[in-house]
Amino acid sequence: MKTPAKILILLAVAAAVVAAVALKQNKTPATGDAQAQASVTATTQVTTAPLVAAKLPRLVDLGAGKCIPCKMMKPILDELKRDYASQFKTEFIDVWESPDEGKKYGIEMIPTQIFYDAEGKELFRHTGFFGKEDILAKWKELGVNSGAKSSAGIVREQPVAVDTRPRDQVCFMCDGDVNAKTKTLVKGETEQRIFCSPHCYFIYFSSIVGVEAKTVDAKVSVTDWASGNLIPATTASYLYGMDAKGRPTVKAFADKATAATEQQASSGNAVSWDVLRSKELATRCAFCDRAVYPEDACAVKFGTTHGYGCCTHCSMGVAARLKQNIEVEAKDGLTGELIRVKTLDGQIAALEPATAVAWFGQNKTAEGKWVSAGCFKQGFFVNAANLQKWLDARPAMTGRQITIAQALADKMKLSPEQIAKACKLGECN
Ligand SMILES: [Zn+2]
Ligand SMILES: [Zn+2]
Repeated sequence: MKTPAKILILLAVAAAVVAAVALKQNKTPATGDAQAQASVTATTQVTTAPLVAAKLPRLVDLGAGKCIPCKMMKPILDELKRDYASQFKTEFIDVWESPDEGKKYGIEMIPTQIFYDAEGKELFRHTGFFGKEDILAKWKELGVNSGAKSSAGIVREQPVAVDTRPRDQVCFMCDGDVNAKTKTLVKGETEQRIFCSPHCYFIYFSSIVGVEAKTVDAKVSVTDWASGNLIPATTASYLYGMDAKGRPTVKAFADKATAATEQQASSGNAVSWDVLRSKELATRCAFCDRAVYPEDACAVKFGTTHGYGCCTHCSMGVAARLKQNIEVEAKDGLTGELIRVKTLDGQIAALEPATAVAWFGQNKTAEGKWVSAGCFKQGFFVNAANLQKWLDARPAMTGRQITIAQALADKMKLSPEQIAKACKLGECN
């Protein structure tokens, strides 16, 4: 799951790793700095003199291929290199491959980012993971203007990094990592669908059309929490609990006795597949009808009725489907801060905060057409800076920034037929 909580954990891990990968150098920092200066001057002369190119400020990131925060820096550096090439240079040095370079720059930890002016004078250095927005803000503070691009909105047509996860470890529905203890799969005619959890199977089930529950259920296997073996879903026992955020947790067991033992250790209710199914399918998106946990959803109020949108864009779609004015409470995709939207006659009547923006996650088809990347790749953010940080952590994501008004307008223009098949698998656009 790509939740804000996960990002925080990653950052915490990153911070810990920075501390752990301190480079044990014998050099005193003073000697290192002096050598770094010498090296910078030399490099600048070598690279710029023969080309007679304009001198640019320079950002040097010293890291290593396998350090976790360094890996997180990679897509950010690639974007900076590509998008801000006319404002400053961005360089990466692998200090494990070239240990002498690390010594030259006098660094003690990786990753370290060093900011130089156009003359090669060091302006600032930072240790640890450094996000794109923070880097751009630092350049601005140092007098290098890099903000002009953001006013037009963020567009990402190419992934910054390719998703290299093996396909059998990626959830077909939510694109999240498949947890080995809750892996769920559905056998198809030719291929099987892999899900991170029974919950994502039920989302899948609610987004396919013209199928009978019994027929599909018979093809589903879940993972026995105790042994890790795949077992038929319909005969398993389930422990249905709740995590600290109130979000349901589902554990499957091959036999009732093991489920009962686990129940004593971690609480929850022992239920059958049929009970689990009715719980999982009880709450639906008021636009696309998918199963959704309220904890993951946007709250939508229409008239005196309360419902849910499974994603931010679906929440706007409720106004189109019901032809009513709606009030939406969405959560910032990065921080969870509340964003409130009120509509009037298919237009935005109120938006809080006014700086809020939307991300329209899209993929390019083989024919070159941009289509929605699905509910799990959409989001609202209290401002564009939060969106950028969220994207920095999702290098494989493509799409573009749009206004919340545009997200609503995109739904309002749909015909009743288009709304009827909204986000049914294979018909989502
Ligand atoms: Zn999933
Ligand atoms: Zn939906």
